[in-house]
Amino acid sequence: MSSVMWFRRDLRTLDHPALMAAIADGPVVPVFVIDPRLWDSSGDVRLAYLCASLRSLNESFGGNLVIRRGDPVEVIPALCREAGATSVHVSADFAPYGMQRDAQVEAALGDFPLVRTGSPYAVAPGRVTKDDGTAYRVFTPFYRAWFRHGWRAPAEAPDPSLSWIASGIASDPLPEHAPPAGVAMPVAGESTAWDRWEEFRANALGDYSEARNRPDIDGTSFLSHHLKWGEIHPRSLLADLGESDEVYRKEICWREFYADVLHQAPSSVRDSLDDRFDRMKWADDDAAYAAWAEGRTGYPFVDAGMRQLRAEGWMHNRVRMVVASFLVKDLHLPWQRGAREFMSWLHDGDIASNTHGWQWTAGCGTDASPFYRVFNPVMQGLKFDPNGDYVRRYIPELAQLDGARAHEPWDQPDGYALGYPERIVDHKAEREVALSDYSVLKEMKDG
Ligand SMILES: Cc1cc2nc3c(=O)[nH]c(=O)nc-3n(C[C@H](O)[C@H](O)[C@H](O)COP(=O)(O)OP(=O)(O)OC[C@H]3O[C@@H](n4cnc5c(N)ncnc54)[C@H](O)[C@@H]3O)c2cc1C
Repeated sequence: MSSVMWFRRDLRTLDHPALMAAIADGPVVPVFVIDPRLWDSSGDVRLAYLCASLRSLNESFGGNLVIRRGDPVEVIPALCREAGATSVHVSADFAPYGMQRDAQVEAALGDFPLVRTGSPYAVAPGRVTKDDGTAYRVFTPFYRAWFRHGWRAPAEAPDPSLSWIASGIASDPLPEHAPPAGVAMPVAGESTAWDRWEEFRANALGDYSEARNRPDIDGTSFLSHHLKWGEIHPRSLLADLGESDEVYRKEICWREFYADVLHQAPSSVRDSLDDRFDRMKWADDDAAYAAWAEGRTGYPFVDAGMRQLRAEGWMHNRVRMVVASFLVKDLHLPWQRGAREFMSWLHDGDIASNTHGWQWTAGCGTDASPFYRVFNPVMQGLKFDPNGDYVRRYIPELAQLDGARAHEPWDQPDGYALGYPERIVDHKAEREVALSDYSVLKEMKDG
């Protein structure tokens, strides 16, 4: 008798309830399926990260991780038969494609049970609802209800003295995928995730509520890629937090909130939660889009963010909000275009957090005051990168401008000496256009 543990977004061994359930039915055949539908639609950065993470997981299993390529609906039942397994264990997936895929695999497995234990979240999507059973659409009441609901303690670790891994099952080679040239990739894997968490807890968690908005300093946990791939579970982080760490707990909750919103409204992966936005007339300016995507808008804080994305496959949260706002409210391009650009570059690219981070910023999602929030890219830069260090790090054409001068090259005699581009739009004017467009939206609602 053996069991199959099908890994997906849970590439770890610790605090892993599904793995513990598989071990109880073991020995365990650990498998990762390269599903062409997901593989072919993922960006190079994310694939490169996944490959590195799988190498790390394989090491944790003494080289016994089984890789199979193909449609899981065929691959998983075939592996079960081949390995003589009696059950298949997974962490439940709540994203639209994952749920549909799992239902199909379950049907194809017939009498073999597909056992779902745990999920990538402290509280599974769908569990936290209003008293009338409907879903929350605003973060703060969700946070209160989520906190009241609470979560389990971390799961026990597998007993190292037991040999619970089934060996000798044939495997395809571990996948390889190179990141785009010039992208500096972070180190993947469970032990790196834990090291980073311990380092952040010891040195930066205490200052997080202030430092988290500053892209010029290392003030955030830089765990989003580890959380995305489940190399560490949010419940493990929550268990280490004290009462005074509420701001960090809230950030973990944003991830849970967005997973919940997507679960309750699966079509929001492409449609605006507020469907009036999809009836609006959006611009279709490819040149403006390219200037934004390549960091050539002439607004230093925006350009630094987009260049950071292409250099590191990651961008600071404050800057994600500012560049997203700029695309939608200064260039009047639809949020869906920006969300696709992000997904193709981010190593933490997560369908729920990305889709709803974009919708929140565009004003068509879960922001409680969606119509008036237009980020000023210059004021944001001056406030959150007061010495200009962040923008100079990514924009060599601003190297000659010391301190905060780097945020306003148009006011400096040598502002364009190194070839930095002029602004492609006038923020003040475009803000007015956005506000006027949004007032039309309000009429649509009233009408
Ligand atoms: C337009 C836009 C797109 C985004 N796309 C993604 C994405 O694809 N993947 C992703 O993981 N995050 C996304 N975020 C959220 C956020 O920017 C990142 O989670 C954060 O920058 C990761 O850095 P960190 O781990 O140092 O975060 P920290 O500040 O240390 O936060 C800790 C953890 O909390 C979670 N978190 C923090 N803020 C948010 C948030 N606003 N929404 C959801 N979860 C949050 C993340 O899991 C993060 O790792 C997006 C935000 C915006 C505005």
